[in-house]
Amino acid sequence: MAAITWKCPNCGGELVFEPSIQKYKCPFCESVLTQEELEEMNPAHASEQEVPEEEAQASYAADQGGTEENTAQTAPGGSGRAVVYSCPSCGAEVVTDETTAATFCYYCHNPVVLEGRISGDYLPDKIIPFQIDRKAAEEKFREYVRKKKFVPRAFYDDSQVEKLSGVYYPYWVYDAQMDADVEAEAKKIRIWRAGDTEYTETSTFRIFREGQTAIGNITENALSKSDRALVENVQPFDLSDMKPFTMGYLSGFLAEKRDMEKEQFQEKLRGNIREYSETMIRDTMSGYTGVRMFRNDYRMKNEHWQYVLLPVWVLTYRAGNGKMYYYALNGQTGNVCGILPVDYSKLALWCLGLGAAAAAAAATGFYFI
Ligand SMILES: [Zn+2]
Ligand SMILES: [Zn+2]
Repeated sequence: MAAITWKCPNCGGELVFEPSIQKYKCPFCESVLTQEELEEMNPAHASEQEVPEEEAQASYAADQGGTEENTAQTAPGGSGRAVVYSCPSCGAEVVTDETTAATFCYYCHNPVVLEGRISGDYLPDKIIPFQIDRKAAEEKFREYVRKKKFVPRAFYDDSQVEKLSGVYYPYWVYDAQMDADVEAEAKKIRIWRAGDTEYTETSTFRIFREGQTAIGNITENALSKSDRALVENVQPFDLSDMKPFTMGYLSGFLAEKRDMEKEQFQEKLRGNIREYSETMIRDTMSGYTGVRMFRNDYRMKNEHWQYVLLPVWVLTYRAGNGKMYYYALNGQTGNVCGILPVDYSKLALWCLGLGAAAAAAAATGFYFI
């Protein structure tokens, strides 16, 4: 395992992935490299030392300006288990939590990719590289907030917007088919009257149905500590844009590795496809008085899982009352979601304004609320 950065061949600066051109750029001399050129390079390695837990904790606490005692609360992820890597650029220790796969050096701010977190079982099959760059994300964020009337000013000042982070989140993508082979007995009852006699005719049918249901591109967020509602609400991603994974895409972004395995989703997803298949089959048996199923043969087929990293811009905001607010922007489509904080003093003023307007309108003979 090692920590990696890609050094600019012209000046030795650290290359980052630039979404607007889908290439790699050196922020110092503006050199631009293609994907192929980057892959030909040997990234700079620095050996990782997974230091004993207590030492990592102390180091993490020191970086955060905290004390050893409060590390358990301050370490991200809540697990309190930090891991230390040495920065390939300045040699300083980069402190990460258990699921970090790409980050920035705390001291020199250069991008660092943690190879061990994205190899072996954790090697992603695919990735959607960021399409929306920081500038576009900031603009979209401002635009989104501008439309909301009651957001506190502090929420959208520039220092707040600078806290936007581009994060690759881990997801599972699931595809499967289900074969259905079903037998049922159905009845149709017809009643009619001729003179004083009521006739009832009962027809019994044997129904056979065979069919196949396919579901595809079901995405499940595979990081338990993420704000699930948020990371799920920025969906959908256009998965037809997925690219084979290479580590370079992570340079200049944060990335997380999964901490949820596919088995944790399997039962639910199988249940969904079964339910979906049953509904489709039942829908073909209409027009009967009653249907009794007596053979239900459903078989899963071609289940396929892919481990992928998908791009999300995230922002967290701690409101005056200490409550945390989260905001997320789909790094591919620009789709925005989040609950924005409400500035109640602004809200009160607005209501007051409305009241005054209504009073004025009433006075002139109009009423519009
Ligand atoms: Zn350069
Ligand atoms: Zn560094």
